[in-house]
Amino acid sequence: MTPDEFRQHGRAVIDWIADYWETVGDQQIVPKIEPGTIRALLPVAAPEHPEGFSTILEDLNRVVAPGLTHWQSPGWFAYFPANVSFPAVLGELVSAGLGQQGMLWQTSPATTEIESHVLDWLVDLMDLPQPWKTTESGGGVLQMSASDSTHTAIVVARSLHSGVDPSRMVAYTSNQAHSSIEKGANVAGIGHVRLIDTDEQMGMRPDALASAVEADVAAGLVPMFVCGTIGTTGTTAVDPLRPIGELAKRHQLWFHVDAAYAGSAMICEEFRHHLDGVDLADSYTFNPHKWLLTNFDCSVFWVADRKPLIDAMAIIPPYLRNTASDSGEVIDYRDWHVPLGRRFRALKLWFVLRHYGAEGLRSYIREHVRLAKDLTARIDSHPSLETIAPTVFGLVSFAHIAGNEATARIAAAINDSGTSYVTPSTLEGRMYVRVSIGSTLTEEQHVDALWRLIKGAA
Ligand code: PLP
Repeated sequence: MTPDEFRQHGRAVIDWIADYWETVGDQQIVPKIEPGTIRALLPVAAPEHPEGFSTILEDLNRVVAPGLTHWQSPGWFAYFPANVSFPAVLGELVSAGLGQQGMLWQTSPATTEIESHVLDWLVDLMDLPQPWKTTESGGGVLQMSASDSTHTAIVVARSLHSGVDPSRMVAYTSNQAHSSIEKGANVAGIGHVRLIDTDEQMGMRPDALASAVEADVAAGLVPMFVCGTIGTTGTTAVDPLRPIGELAKRHQLWFHVDAAYAGSAMICEEFRHHLDGVDLADSYTFNPHKWLLTNFDCSVFWVADRKPLIDAMAIIPPYLRNTASDSGEVIDYRDWHVPLGRRFRALKLWFVLRHYGAEGLRSYIREHVRLAKDLTARIDSHPSLETIAPTVFGLVSFAHIAGNEATARIAAAINDSGTSYVTPSTLEGRMYVRVSIGSTLTEEQHVDALWRLIKGAA
């Protein structure tokens, strides 16, 4: 494809995406198709001869569109949001066009330095601990997902107990924590994962954590990692970070904080009381790709001290040696995670921060939280409905007072509508509906439409 052909087809692709965004709110959110439907539209064998690019693009409508679940619909209230914005899309496009490999500072100084700088900006924008900056003892790095960030934290924690058999190691998190904590520990070969009891607000009980750690020490095991959550997946509960962090210091546990979803809200001052105790954390992760208008994949991983991270990850084969690295004055991000090759992920985040400004991002988050609080008030004033957990951020969790069957009916009515979509879940046997308000295009009218569906089925 020549540069001129690229210009021509590139314009067509941008138009196609813009059209998609203009009509996504009218689409049925989840396609009603049988497994295999999309594959059946594809030829059995890969093309032997080149095809015209216009023909390829036509198949976006014929083959791809019928199999899309519309995560970007304004009626998307399921899971947590997976934000996309045009500035981020353009950042992705430039990143792809530049084809950088930023494994070493030397292999792409701009990839490294913009990433370090933008993540240092975020430390200030969110009033996070100053040592987390790359200009201080720690630093931030972009990973693919919070699961990767957490797995990396566990691997670093493991490396601090050299000589101990990982099968004797114990990691702790709450029984409301995301499954990625348990998965990360399993993948790292950690012998035991304890899911600590929670209180009535679904936050981890520090006394239960202390008892579990003491029992494990008494049994000859080696506690080595604890993860607190800001914004659990089930109900956006927040663990009490300070007592967890203090206990972690007493017992020399690595203290990691998972703020995958709710971390974006820290751009607004009024949510920062949830950060109390975060100064005790060794590492922290949050996903701009959930709720900060930045396309997947973009997960921030900060450490308070980069030395143990680099010690755990660095392996220097002769072909990667270079004078910049040897000088010790540069960051080589290949030593900050498992992959060697790495793309220019920071570009889209940089575009987003500059396009919206902190002010624009704050009002974006605040509007979703306002809509969530408003829906909460409507639910709580309805005689047959109740919220089952406080609305802390953009998630509303509610149930029908008549029980699971009635709650399931509401979830089905919403999802059968085609234009609103929620995820039902269960907590201690009670079914509830999770309404996650945080999609890029969601406005008051879409929450009103959802409320009409809820009321109609209640
Ligand atoms: N942690 C929490 C609290 C989450 O809600 C999620 C996903 O929803 C994750 C971690 C995993 O995020 P990722 O998909 O980036 O691995």
